[in-house]
Amino acid sequence: MTHYDIYSIRNDFPILKSMVNGKPLVYLDNGASTQKPQLVIDAINHYYSSQNSNVHRGVHYLSQIATDAYEVTRRKLKAFINSKEEHEIILTKGTTDSINLVASSFGNAFINEGDEILISAMEHHSNIVPWQILCESKKANLKVIPINDAGELDMDAYSKLLNERVKIVSITYVSNTLGTINPIKDIIRLAHDQNIPVLVDAAQTIQHIPIDVQALDVDFLAFSGHKMYGPTGVGVLYGKEKWLNAMPPYQGGGDMIKDVSFEKTTYNDLPFKFEAGTPNIEAGVALAFAIDYINSIGLDKIAQYEHELLCYATDELLDINGLRIIGTAKEKSSVISFVIGDIHPYDIGVILDKLGIAVRTGHHCTQPLMARYGIPGTVRASIGLYNTKEDIDTLVKGVKKAVAMLS
Ligand code: PLP
Repeated sequence: MTHYDIYSIRNDFPILKSMVNGKPLVYLDNGASTQKPQLVIDAINHYYSSQNSNVHRGVHYLSQIATDAYEVTRRKLKAFINSKEEHEIILTKGTTDSINLVASSFGNAFINEGDEILISAMEHHSNIVPWQILCESKKANLKVIPINDAGELDMDAYSKLLNERVKIVSITYVSNTLGTINPIKDIIRLAHDQNIPVLVDAAQTIQHIPIDVQALDVDFLAFSGHKMYGPTGVGVLYGKEKWLNAMPPYQGGGDMIKDVSFEKTTYNDLPFKFEAGTPNIEAGVALAFAIDYINSIGLDKIAQYEHELLCYATDELLDINGLRIIGTAKEKSSVISFVIGDIHPYDIGVILDKLGIAVRTGHHCTQPLMARYGIPGTVRASIGLYNTKEDIDTLVKGVKKAVAMLS
């Protein structure tokens, strides 16, 4: 089943050798955050040991090498998602920051009273609340594309919701709770047929599925470094140049200006117009190494491997009496959410933790989705490139034990 040497891959991640509660760690909470390979950890150490300085400002040696290292990441991100221009890559704090940037700046420029913003029923709170804040201030309306019981988007309803009042569609590519892979190409095409731009939340996609922003013709793409084996505190907003140029700055401060006087300030060119203040430099620098790491294995291979693991885990879990998988879409990626009878997901999570197994329990920042299914939460196992069949076997054994203890 392995399409790459999984045991040598696991050796690259020091934390995977940990013992938790006397048991070898089984890390299945990759949807929340991924572990870091040694080369990413080393890059942070190297940055502080020999490169540390502020970026984009100094003429001195260290400032230049810090700037160069930081800008290498932008170049690698450009290649990774195949953006046309390097300055279409805005470095942010993460997906949440990227979506807030668009909601605030695009919203400021293009959303007016009575306009509509279209999201889906499976969005993370990060792709709901920024739009609600905008709707409140602009007296605009948030509309929601419904899903079916399997957790698939209702594409007929989507088509019907598209109209001249809709000014942006903001939607996730992969659901962090259901694992559903949305038909993103069709979603974008249908919106573009009516000249509506689309923001895609790729927080759960970028580490699992190759993305080509030009092929997708997506207008904005948001993702986080820490979910793609990179550091926390750095993420990306890709935006088409025509939109980014038409949008006002999000935050004011250093770096985003050309000229400041008390009478008038002129803003910097892209990408710096949207990068006010000192960024998280070490995280930015180290993200390049995470990209190299993913590329050294190949996202296609990762996708194939994880898919087989997902199918295996689904089959094995479904063998457990009373277990119901929430999210049974035909197209799924790397996430299995489940409930068992009326056992509270939290109780299962606590027992799994005692066995060294890390899963996520609760609403996964998708409370409206939980309401849609009429459940308080799920247990969620989410797969990363280093997980093994043995990890799944340990999980299934653990869940069986939890059920025996809690029933
Ligand atoms: N969108 C989705 C689909 C997510 O899964 C997450 C995080 O779990 C986010 C957005 C927010 O990402 P971050 O907390 O890194 O900003």
